[in-house]
Amino acid sequence: MILILLGPPGAGKGTQAHRLSAMLSLPTLSTGDMLRDAMAAGTALGKKVKEVMDSGNLVADDDVVALVEERTREEDCQNGFILDGFPRTVAQADALAAMLSRRDLTLDHVINFDVADDEIVRRKGGRLTAPKSKRIYHVEFNPPKTAGKCDESGEDLVQRDDDKEDVVRHRLNVYREQTMPLISYYADKGILIPLNGAESVETVSENLANALNVPYKQTA
Ligand code: AMP
Repeated sequence: MILILLGPPGAGKGTQAHRLSAMLSLPTLSTGDMLRDAMAAGTALGKKVKEVMDSGNLVADDDVVALVEERTREEDCQNGFILDGFPRTVAQADALAAMLSRRDLTLDHVINFDVADDEIVRRKGGRLTAPKSKRIYHVEFNPPKTAGKCDESGEDLVQRDDDKEDVVRHRLNVYREQTMPLISYYADKGILIPLNGAESVETVSENLANALNVPYKQTA
């Protein structure tokens, strides 16, 4: 199964991608994580994208498309994958369609997470991420078992620079202008599943499992 999780930054795509990944035994491919890994590793791509990412703007289409092209060729993607944060522009969606068609693969569903701007700013304020395990927590809605530590890896949790309020507001504008057109793009193809992302993590997870017709499994 090939899935896209679509929605504004902070809509809960990353959290749900990890849960869905456990339910479906499919890998999650987050272009944001791949780019942050490239920055942390100090690769040429990482150096090139740092400023753009810190400002909340989008990285060049060609660069993210190349990352996805390469990653989806790996062994663990052969039964499908969950895309989180890609595509983010119509050009990326077209490139993905061309890539899948070249490989005789089909995009099954696009889940659209709908959440109001103010709720996103509230959520982002308390969001904590684990740099290595990529797990995402929230001090209020999804706290780790031990404050400030990742349940899985035990590493220290951090707030990302692009989760600061002014950057979040800017990212929401970028989302509206460049990514929102993908809602009608995929609705027109008849593969869009709308989802209320404003509900609790558990409820969204359950609704998502129901929408995809997979047994709901409660995960940590
Ligand atoms: P995310 O972790 O998905 O919120 O992404 C963090 C940042 O990485 C974004 O604000 C962009 O600068 C960059 N990024 C991630 N995915 C993409 C993409 N598909 N296209 C362009 N830029 C991206």
